[in-house]
Amino acid sequence: MQILTTAAALHAYTETARRAGQRVGLVPTMGALHDGHLQLVQAARAQCNVVVASIFVNPTQFNNAEDFRLYPRVPEADAALLAPAGCTALFTPSVEEMYPRPTVLRFDFGDLERVMEGAHRPGHFNGVATVVSKLFHMARPHQAFFGQKDWQQVAIIRQLVADLSFDLEIVTCPTIREADGLAMSSRNCRLDAPARAVAPLLHQVLEAAAAQVRQGVPPAQVKAAADATLAAEPLLTPEYVEVADAETLQPLDVYAPGRAVVLCLAAHLGGVRLIDNVVVE
Ligand code: AMP
Repeated sequence: MQILTTAAALHAYTETARRAGQRVGLVPTMGALHDGHLQLVQAARAQCNVVVASIFVNPTQFNNAEDFRLYPRVPEADAALLAPAGCTALFTPSVEEMYPRPTVLRFDFGDLERVMEGAHRPGHFNGVATVVSKLFHMARPHQAFFGQKDWQQVAIIRQLVADLSFDLEIVTCPTIREADGLAMSSRNCRLDAPARAVAPLLHQVLEAAAAQVRQGVPPAQVKAAADATLAAEPLLTPEYVEVADAETLQPLDVYAPGRAVVLCLAAHLGGVRLIDNVVVE
C-alpha cells in the first residue's frame, strides 16, 4: 500500500491507473477506522483495481471546536487495517495541503440541508461538500463509497455529484453494527462504560419505530413514542428524532404510498454526539 500525502502524488497515482485502463475506487474517511469503514474498502476492491482510502479530519465540517480537538486520531493503527482490506493507496494530507488558502465558496443544498444534521450542525455540509469535491478532483475516481450510517450525507453528496456533473458513481454500503446493535462509529471509543451500556438504546428505539411505521402508525405518533423512550434515559440528551421521506429527507405528516421512509436520530451520550438511522422500504 502506497502512502500519499500530496494532491499531486494522489493525482499522479490515480491518473497512471486510469491510463492503464484500471478502475479507481475512493473511500473518504476521517480515520479511527472500524469495520464500517473496512467494508467500504472491501466493496471498493470488489469493483475497482485500485482503491484509495483517504484519512483527513476535515476542520471545515466541524461546527464544534471541542469535537474536532477530541476526534480520535490513530494513524498507525489505521494504516495497518487498510492494506489487508484491499486498500492500495492511503491518502493522508495535511490541513495546509487540502486548504492552501481559506475557502470562500459556500454550498447551499436547499431543503436537503435544512433538516436534521444540516439544521443542527450549521456549516457541516458545506465543509463536507467542500472536502469531498476536492477529493473527487484530486483522485478522479470511477466510484466513491459511502456508508448508510450518514444517510443525509449520502443524499447531499448525490446532489453535489448531479449538480456539478462529477463523472463518477456513488455507491452506498449498509450500516455495520456492534453485536448489540450500536452503529459503529469512530466516536464510540469516547463512550465511558455507563454511556456504552446505554448506547444500544438508540438502535432499539429506531427498530421499534420502524416496526410502527410498517404497521402504519402515523408519523407524529412514531416520533412521540421514540422521543419519550429517549427522554426517559437520564444519561441521554436527545437532539432530534425524525420520520422523513428517505429521498427528500423532509419530515412526514402522512406516509406516501410506495415511498421509503427513513428514521433518523441524534443524541448526546456522556459528552459524545451519536447519530443513527434505519430505512423502511
Ligand atoms: P467517517 O470516518 O465517520 O467520516 O466515515 C467515513 C465513511 O464511513 C462515511 O461514508 C461513513 O458513512 C462511513 N461509515 C462510518 N461508520 C459506518 C458504519 N458503522 N457502517 C457503515 N459505514 C460507516
